[in-house]
Amino acid sequence: MINFGYTRVSTPKAAVEALAKDSNAQWLAGGTNLLDLMKKGVTAPHKLVDINNLALKEISKEGSKLRIGALALNSDVAENELIRREQPLLSLALQAGASQQIRNMATVGGNIMQRTRCPYFYNTDMPCNKREPGTGCGALKGFNRMHAIFGTSENCIAVHPSDMCIALVALDATVLVTGPKGDRRIPFPSFHRLPGDTPQKDNTLERGELITALEIPDNSYRDHVHYLKVRDRTSYAFALVSVAAAVDMQGDTIQDVRLGMGGVAHKPWRLTEVENFLKGKTASEATFRQAAELSVKGAHGYGHNNFKLKLAPNTLVEALKTATGKA
Ligand code: SF4
Repeated sequence: MINFGYTRVSTPKAAVEALAKDSNAQWLAGGTNLLDLMKKGVTAPHKLVDINNLALKEISKEGSKLRIGALALNSDVAENELIRREQPLLSLALQAGASQQIRNMATVGGNIMQRTRCPYFYNTDMPCNKREPGTGCGALKGFNRMHAIFGTSENCIAVHPSDMCIALVALDATVLVTGPKGDRRIPFPSFHRLPGDTPQKDNTLERGELITALEIPDNSYRDHVHYLKVRDRTSYAFALVSVAAAVDMQGDTIQDVRLGMGGVAHKPWRLTEVENFLKGKTASEATFRQAAELSVKGAHGYGHNNFKLKLAPNTLVEALKTATGKA
């Protein structure tokens, strides 16, 4: 049993100040990942600062942007009428994540901040550069079936676990944060990072910065979207590979497209080169197969996860077929 303090705050300013006062304090929202991390001894904060009373739960339309408060629950966002009508890809991705019980507790901000599910990260008897920098990576030569094929380093090959974030990277979302130095906006592709030499850092937040909201710009991806998640069982399992596909079609022609891939990298993986290839092309399985070949350019397997080199392009083809009505 590790003792820790607990306090509750009611404004973002108080939340930021509480963390500034204690270098080993952490915020508590839904707690669905944090409690696991504490129980396994991966993290041991001196104090939990409960932010659940902050007024950050609203889902609203502001001009041409949809705004989602950081404390909105995953289940509320997934079922929200506005989200289902205007950003259906986000709703589909959320419904594919975790279980209904966890979605009822987990917040949008916590979903973005959740940590990898690499089993070596959660096993304090094993080496892990993310948990304890400089100790080595148990997965590199260990059991790495769930691990990354893009953007890895010799220090870490873990994957980002969220489904929601794969849709958000495809939808050009922005993360709004506040902190000791004021407010700032972080484009979603720049929020999470690759492991490089500092795998302990999952994202580009500075110490004490609090996520307050997400913004998603208006788009024309309403009728042709699909989130395809391939996993070991159909509920409460993390993705082996997932694809978020949003397509703007004019007849059979792909006017524009956004693609995110999950289960393959340390951050939500945006397939920009594939998007550029598909723009202006006629939607067909043959075109999608060509796009799929492009999608794994530069990918690298580590043994147990070599199957992802085939699974990833195949998942992309199936997601595009379903999104465009060519299945
Ligand atoms: Fe740790 Fe990353 Fe290696 Fe997993 S892949 S053991 S998280 S360093």
